[in-house]
Amino acid sequence: MHSYDTLLAAITAQHGSTREVHDPATGALIGTAPLQDVAELEAAIDRAVAAQTAWAALADEERSRYLHRAADAIEAAAEPLAELLSREQGKPLNGPNARFEVGACAVWLRAAADTPLPVEVIVDDGENYAELHHRPIGVVGAISPWNWPMMISIWQIAPSLRMGNTVVAKPAETTTLSGLALVAVMNQVLPDGVLNIVAGPGSTVGDALTRSPRVGKIMFTGSTGVGKRIIEASAHNVTRLTLELGGNDAGIVLPDVDAAAIAADLFWGAFINTGQTCAALKRLYVHDAVYDDVLEHLVAFAKDMPMGVGLDEQNVLGPLQNRGQYEIVDRLVESAKASGARVVLGGDPDHGAVGNFYPTTIVADIDPHNELVTEEQFGPALPVIRYSDLDDVIALANELEFGLGASVWSADRDAARTIAARLEAGTVWINSHGGLHPMVPFGGAKQSGYGREFGVAGLKAVAEPQVVSG
Ligand code: NAP
Ligand code: MG
Repeated sequence: MHSYDTLLAAITAQHGSTREVHDPATGALIGTAPLQDVAELEAAIDRAVAAQTAWAALADEERSRYLHRAADAIEAAAEPLAELLSREQGKPLNGPNARFEVGACAVWLRAAADTPLPVEVIVDDGENYAELHHRPIGVVGAISPWNWPMMISIWQIAPSLRMGNTVVAKPAETTTLSGLALVAVMNQVLPDGVLNIVAGPGSTVGDALTRSPRVGKIMFTGSTGVGKRIIEASAHNVTRLTLELGGNDAGIVLPDVDAAAIAADLFWGAFINTGQTCAALKRLYVHDAVYDDVLEHLVAFAKDMPMGVGLDEQNVLGPLQNRGQYEIVDRLVESAKASGARVVLGGDPDHGAVGNFYPTTIVADIDPHNELVTEEQFGPALPVIRYSDLDDVIALANELEFGLGASVWSADRDAARTIAARLEAGTVWINSHGGLHPMVPFGGAKQSGYGREFGVAGLKAVAEPQVVSG
């Protein structure tokens, strides 16, 4: 699958129900995706169940080799995968976008393959002996969102396969082709039935996957609302869950920063993937002493970042992936405007233009309880809130139900670490926001979810601990 056309042909629906897929930047038809139903889901679960025993019986090293071969296959098809991802999701090829995402798929696969998880001897004192193994759970359901459709699927699939589970993946409706393409490329090298995908609606196929007594674990990344429905569904079979839900990450800028030096990292922390990132900086609190300076440098950096059609090599920002998300961003910015906040960049979309382009938008002097601050905008519109008291700003950062990430920006690392200890978030970055590493546990506090992905914690999350004692 070394060309875009062969890749697309391999995943194009030939029969059954189908759905047209349009480029969110141009509206052009890019392909036809299957629209599968619960019967097809059950057939996929049949295949996953049938393949699981032999897959689990392989030596750990043998499964690791398969993961490396899958990473090789992704690297060999990297350009066509990135092109499809760019066309369907909208994100540009360049910048921290489509090529970056495809590259990360290989990196996370290899990390899952190479992370040791030896048997642990817990007690061995002459009288008692107990060791801890991590056994496969069985079949893992992997439900992914549309913002990073390939990379987040790999985060779910790679550790699951490594630990001897088989997988049934469910891509988001609006990025079905990206999910199908990724799985098709990996299935060039994986044994039959180990990795399956069903492209059907969340409300039927996704729901049935979470309720199946034959699925032992659900890896879910998506909204908090759907996450709560999955928690309810999991009660039927005591299904294990890892939930990566919504985020509304705060960044706190202390008065000792060099505004020019942090502007680029602030920008990318907030606007990566055109703001459609769970752990993006979504509310920026800046101390009064540096407020104007930080704003000025941030706006100067942001205004020159090219936004446009993803396949144009010069662009680093793209459209919103779907019209629904465009409308959410538009509504929240309008609410900020109506409240008297100061729009210092953007905020003036052309609703009649082709594509879901919402301009890079920065809103200053905004009420800390305006909806643009308190709701997850998931798009290119950043509110910048002025503060003067540290206790007050920590209280504001912690007052929402979300707790995915947060960041503190300061020349004084110790001061930043002291503040980090008071923030309710799964990750606190210092002088950056949103950087991930395949060995560093990632996940949310509070209603941003539970469980951790990546590294040793991520492998354990898709395994059943078993004590062998005596
Ligand atoms: P979403 O609406 O919750 O959808 C996520 C996935 O769940 C899709 O595949 C969807 O399928 C499926 N789904 C919908 N209803 C379901 C049900 N009843 N049972 C099982 N599955 C169901 O989220 P989204 O709009 O795609 O993504 C945006 C959200 O994801 C944001 O809140 C963002 O913060 C969050 N997110 C979190 C992380 C993280 O790591 N914490 C990462 C990325 C995104 P359909 O598309 O077919 O409906
Ligand atoms: Mg949705």
